[in-house]
Amino acid sequence: MKGDILIHGLGVAGATLAYLTSKLGFRVVGLDVAPYYRKACGDVVTLRSYTWELLRATGSILTFARRFEVRVGGVEVAYLNLGPVWAVVDKPKLVNTLRSMAEAEGAKIVKGKGAPEAGSDGVVVDARGPYAHNLNESVLTVRFIAKARWDDDSALIDFDPANLGLYWVFPLGDGRINMGAGFKKVEDGGLLKALTLKYYRRLTGENAQVLDVRGAPVAVEAPVKLVEDGVYKVGEAAGLVNSTSGEGNRYAIHSAIALARAISKGRGVKGYKELLQGVLDEITLSRLLLKLVEKLGPKTSTKLLESLPQEFWAYYFKGRLTRRTLLRVLRSNLNILLPTV
Ligand SMILES: Cc1cc2nc3c(=O)[nH]c(=O)nc-3n(C[C@H](O)[C@H](O)[C@H](O)COP(=O)(O)OP(=O)(O)OC[C@H]3O[C@@H](n4cnc5c(N)ncnc54)[C@H](O)[C@@H]3O)c2cc1C
Repeated sequence: MKGDILIHGLGVAGATLAYLTSKLGFRVVGLDVAPYYRKACGDVVTLRSYTWELLRATGSILTFARRFEVRVGGVEVAYLNLGPVWAVVDKPKLVNTLRSMAEAEGAKIVKGKGAPEAGSDGVVVDARGPYAHNLNESVLTVRFIAKARWDDDSALIDFDPANLGLYWVFPLGDGRINMGAGFKKVEDGGLLKALTLKYYRRLTGENAQVLDVRGAPVAVEAPVKLVEDGVYKVGEAAGLVNSTSGEGNRYAIHSAIALARAISKGRGVKGYKELLQGVLDEITLSRLLLKLVEKLGPKTSTKLLESLPQEFWAYYFKGRLTRRTLLRVLRSNLNILLPTV
């Protein structure tokens, strides 16, 4: 045995970490308040070789999103056919299977609520997702699963710059959709549900046949910290969530892989940070973009969003929007800046 690892929270990040580290020969204990994971999500995971591997191993892929429509205030501004860029997953199956796979490798999974604290020996990890943070650093989000006539490969995102957030409609396969919304300026869950249902009616002319509804916070403004007071952090507990899209699943998986690697190679915090540099850059950029939209106000940021070229949206959906790619897009589309400055 290689040493002890105590993981608080067994969502995407914690369950992945528990599986990987127990497989590497560590003595792992994983603690979660919920014996069965069923947290609300848009159920989309951006494809990379490492996410693909994990999704396949857990048999959790339902369909793929290939076509993407972007709207701003209900008006279409871009439409892209990008091929299978997102896997749409059965997320409870993904997380609960990872927990079982960790147990099969010798990890001990226990039900319980804890506040992670560094001990004298062993590694302690905070993987409590948005619940590791003060809720005023999060945006409340609701998602509906509904029956609908919807293309099984089409995803829609509609930005609302006035409320600082977005509506989404994603395919779920089998004649179902996953739709929802989250706005920095709408804190009331009841209002958020009503707005989402109204949005769907406006979009399709039909009432949604709702099968399930759930809400959860997304920590879009939480500080990014990979370690604090000797406790490692992964996933949303580390602040790894994209402020402009709400994407967090890929980062949760990536951070768990990076931490497992850093621990097993004895590379500590420095190694962990190095392995996550790309993700950290993406998230810093998303925080800057959210601040920019907030600062510009709804009218100007609507104009800006409307004028962004297809190339920008391709990077956005592929999860490849970095400072470098953004500069490239801006340089070859200098006219974007003209109406706004
Ligand atoms: C409505 C909604 C839609 C979203 N859509 C998408 C999407 O389509 N694509 C995407 O990439 N991301 C999406 N996200 C974000 C994504 O769900 C999260 O970023 C991701 O789940 C983070 O994984 P995690 O493991 O860090 O945290 P979580 O998955 O939240 O897991 C945290 C775990 O910690 C446990 N826990 C909490 N407190 C304690 C405690 N005190 N002690 C022990 N255990 C505790 C919880 O029970 C849970 O199992 C969405 C989020 C929401 C809310």
